[in-house]
Amino acid sequence: MKFQKPKGTKDILPKDIHKWHFVEKTIREATKLFNFSEIRTPTFEYTELFKRGVGSETDIVGKEMYTFVDKGGESITLKPEGTAPVMRAYLENSLSAESPLHKLYYITSMFRYEKPQAGRYREHSQFGGEIIGSDSIDTDVELILLAKEVYNRCGINNFKLKINSIGKPSERKTYVNALTDYLKKHFNRLSEESKKRLGTNPLRILDSKSPDDLIITKEAPKIIEHLTKDSRNRFDLVLYELTRLGVNYEIDFRLVRGLDYYTDTTFEFISSDLGAQDALGGGGRYDGLIELLGGKPTPGVGFGSGIERLIIVAEKNGFTFGEPSSPKVYFIALNSSAKEIAFKIMMELRKKNISCETDLLVRSMKAQMREANKIGSDYVFIIGDDELKNQKGILKKMSDGSQQNVEFDKLREYLN
Ligand code: AMP
Repeated sequence: MKFQKPKGTKDILPKDIHKWHFVEKTIREATKLFNFSEIRTPTFEYTELFKRGVGSETDIVGKEMYTFVDKGGESITLKPEGTAPVMRAYLENSLSAESPLHKLYYITSMFRYEKPQAGRYREHSQFGGEIIGSDSIDTDVELILLAKEVYNRCGINNFKLKINSIGKPSERKTYVNALTDYLKKHFNRLSEESKKRLGTNPLRILDSKSPDDLIITKEAPKIIEHLTKDSRNRFDLVLYELTRLGVNYEIDFRLVRGLDYYTDTTFEFISSDLGAQDALGGGGRYDGLIELLGGKPTPGVGFGSGIERLIIVAEKNGFTFGEPSSPKVYFIALNSSAKEIAFKIMMELRKKNISCETDLLVRSMKAQMREANKIGSDYVFIIGDDELKNQKGILKKMSDGSQQNVEFDKLREYLN
């Protein structure tokens, strides 16, 4: 029987793993520079958290969750997004008692039962950031800057930042009424999906990529026209600050998240290198979420960004993610006594953080030399009968072919 990986998943093979290591390292470096702390939450949560914290009418919860009943009869869901679990952990562990403000980041797998296509998987990885405890515009800006920093450090400079404000729930209510009235007038021309959404979540119609819907929504009332002075001011301040810091953006009135707890700023990073699934990352404020999950009203803002897509875009821009790592020295031991010595020296070198490799396939000297070349080791250290006798091996530098005899217990000094 031949097994295959489940549809929509991927293997990250050794030849590509350095890209992932580079991106993960970059995220950790950037988050450190911004003083974010890492938080790790379980791979699965009780289903109710996502129903409540994301919303049953969303595609994520309505259609895409990996949900099952466990042996104890509990409904469990594999994490489809990062914010609700972080908020659950924030509340459950009373983090607000430790500090009024938390800046948290995560790197984690997400699971969504979506139709796989380029850049869209059923298991994908995201890094995300959340700032909990302040509604200052600086928190919106700080998160945008963090995402931008990570992209820039991965060689991505040509993304587009789209931004919008959806105000407060009360403003959205009047807006949804105005939008619904407008869309009803064009009902017959809406796509079938949007006809359904008109009754459940009309805001989502603005997300629709259907050409008919796009023509209709182009002329639709815009949420920005329905914001109160305060909300509009807040949005202008965010834009002012981004401009002041030299961050380019484009206001996109379609960028509305169809969830009640979202407030004010929403943003998305788009890349033309991604094709149909062009979102590199996205986020927004969720000042109503913690209250919805049973906490005291607490403002927050967050974003999530796909790591697979980040790697796709970085590669399209010619970014190399550094070199795959290779051992510093490859030991060629030509008999069993030589092998014994080689392992001893390797043990010492590894303790000193010098990476070593030797032949584990009992290959000929020529084949071992070829292997050392192939894996890109900087040196080979050859031990045969004569070398054993003299307690000196032959150290060969692969870059120029030069070689010298080096005492076994002096090797480390030569490698430094
Ligand atoms: P979302 O929570 O849908 O805004 O997703 C945040 C980011 O995660 C997106 O901007 C994408 O970069 C990435 N993402 C979301 N869904 C997928 C998926 N199915 N496959 C790969 N990346 C995804």
